[in-house]
Amino acid sequence: MDRSKLYRRFRTLLIANRGEIACRVIRSARALGLRTVAVYSEADRDAMHVALADEAVLLGPARARDSYLNIERVIAAAKQTGAEAAHPGYGFLSENAEFAEACLAAGLVFVGPTAEMMTAMGSKSGSKALMERAGVPLVPGYHGEAQDEATLAEAANRIGFPVLVKASAGGGGRGMRVVNSAGELSAAITSAKREAKAAFGDDRMLIEKYVQNPRHIEVQIIGDSHGHLLSLWERECTLQRRHQKVIEEAPSPTLNATQRDTVCEAARKAAGAVNYVGAGTIEFVSDGKDVFFIEMNTRLQVEHPVTELITGVDLVEWQLRVAFGEALPLKQDEIRLNGHAIEARVYAENPQKNFMPSVGRIKTWRTPPEGDGLRIDAGYRSGDAVSPYYDAMLAKVIAWAPTREGAIEKLNRGLEGTDVRGIVTNIPFLSALVTHQNVRDNAIDTGFIERELKNLTAETGAARELELCAAVAAIVNAERAAARSEANSPWQTFGWQPVGRRQRVFSFRQGHEAPHTITLHYGRGPLTLSVGGRDIPFAISSADGAGFDLTLDGVKTRVASVIEGHELYLRTRNGRFDLHWVDPFGGESEEQVGEDKIVAPLPGTVVALLAEEGATLEKGAAILTLEVMKMEQTLRAPYAGVLKKLKCKVGDIVGEGVELAEVEPVAAS
Ligand code: ADP
Repeated sequence: MDRSKLYRRFRTLLIANRGEIACRVIRSARALGLRTVAVYSEADRDAMHVALADEAVLLGPARARDSYLNIERVIAAAKQTGAEAAHPGYGFLSENAEFAEACLAAGLVFVGPTAEMMTAMGSKSGSKALMERAGVPLVPGYHGEAQDEATLAEAANRIGFPVLVKASAGGGGRGMRVVNSAGELSAAITSAKREAKAAFGDDRMLIEKYVQNPRHIEVQIIGDSHGHLLSLWERECTLQRRHQKVIEEAPSPTLNATQRDTVCEAARKAAGAVNYVGAGTIEFVSDGKDVFFIEMNTRLQVEHPVTELITGVDLVEWQLRVAFGEALPLKQDEIRLNGHAIEARVYAENPQKNFMPSVGRIKTWRTPPEGDGLRIDAGYRSGDAVSPYYDAMLAKVIAWAPTREGAIEKLNRGLEGTDVRGIVTNIPFLSALVTHQNVRDNAIDTGFIERELKNLTAETGAARELELCAAVAAIVNAERAAARSEANSPWQTFGWQPVGRRQRVFSFRQGHEAPHTITLHYGRGPLTLSVGGRDIPFAISSADGAGFDLTLDGVKTRVASVIEGHELYLRTRNGRFDLHWVDPFGGESEEQVGEDKIVAPLPGTVVALLAEEGATLEKGAAILTLEVMKMEQTLRAPYAGVLKKLKCKVGDIVGEGVELAEVEPVAAS
């Protein structure tokens, strides 16, 4: 194939993606003087990437397969706007060879490798066969064509447990199960196949030896159409949850210089085996000593910014230059490795509720200023909606410093300064994770998060005196501000009531705990608070939109506060605190927590029924599996009982809060 047909100069780029990566690609494209075209679904009419691009085309309904995954519509959008090239970002069509073909057929430059390279490397099985021939070290395993259960079981026995069952077409940790013994194999294969079929339309499985205490090491590579291929050092992404990366850093703090050279060389060999063109990543798993090839991703990765920060290379710019048909601007020995970079993925999810995705409207989106080693790649702004249709990643906070310790500190400060309201995010979890002593000491493996989950997701410490006082002060401060223009407001004369002392009782709840009560004394004399039998004089000063100085017992401290209805979000020197103000005059009754009902926690699809009507269930017995935002979730019996009724069937698309089953409790005998 004549490569000049594939790669040539263009002026208008369509970005076949959404969210932060679409925004990030638009930035570099614009810096190169390109005109940018966004595509969007009905759920994303007001999305940030649509606002950023020069033009935008509606693809179709919210469901990805009707919009972002619909090749025909994406190509039509390019034709309609005169786009001459398409950048696929990551996810969606980024590793879809059919899309790369369709671009070529439509006369568009595909910013990425050729369809042939993608096909060769795209399947985990195919790429392994290729790597075996190229002499790249592999994890012992089975990656053959035969998929019958007997063959897979025989392979697993030969490899020896524990094994990892993996979807050949897999990505994002989906369709993957660790199997510890022969007895668990069949069930694991069935469920992994189901997940893979739904996610990738392909349920072929491979089996690998499960490397114990593994670390994830990967190498960024990029090739041009003139036969040059470079590696841009490695990243380590060992901090994962359910095989999905949470924190990534570069360089790896685990490898020494010799190991670094070895892995980078293996990566170049791997990519060289297909004369790779474009940006890609060779992934390895390491037992701390040796590294084994696991797969290649033929696209830009989520975590590419950490490589950019240590090398000073703009990878999207290089991708575009390669797509223009240019030669790579640097040689291998000119690729710098400077300092340390670390990235955290900010998700709309609730770590306290098993990382359930959180959908809704973002009321506040506030991030600290970028620069001085802090970078924020966001795809959302205040007022944007987070819909249940797509991946729940909102943004990435990335930090650089000369040392790893410095980068960790900077990342943590960046996370602490990021305020997102209206939906639940994993930011406090990320903060707890990056500052964990084991992470600081690099004493981790890919199972670390799972083992430490309790500590990492612990609710912030119980609200103490300081937080309760800060909550009252925040309300007083807000009411004063609101009343400033109102004549005759009692707050205008606050503290000067001629009738003597008055009091007001406040009650706050943290999570589902019993409410705390605190009394404010005002009127004649200084403001005081009574909490836990103690009277504390207090004062508020230097109030602005973000908070105030609170003086308690003569000690002044800064409090950041936001009040939304009855929700108070506070940050004190002890960390973040969310408190609910139980307003006695608000007509509020204690909410009914529907934990006894089997209801859909979010909109989703019923993918399996695991118990039959009439069955006797132990507490915690599995009843059904729901797929919510591409992740399977099993709903369980809240108590021992009888499954009285199943109110759904496999394939049902159910809305949030819909009752799916009825369990009748049995009295313990
Ligand atoms: P995906 O494409 O779904 O991300 P990968 O094959 O890249 O799947 O694996 C995801 C993660 O699972 C890796 O980062 C690694 O931590 C872990 N993993 C993969 N293969 C093995 C293995 N054989 N042994 C131990 N851990 C593994």
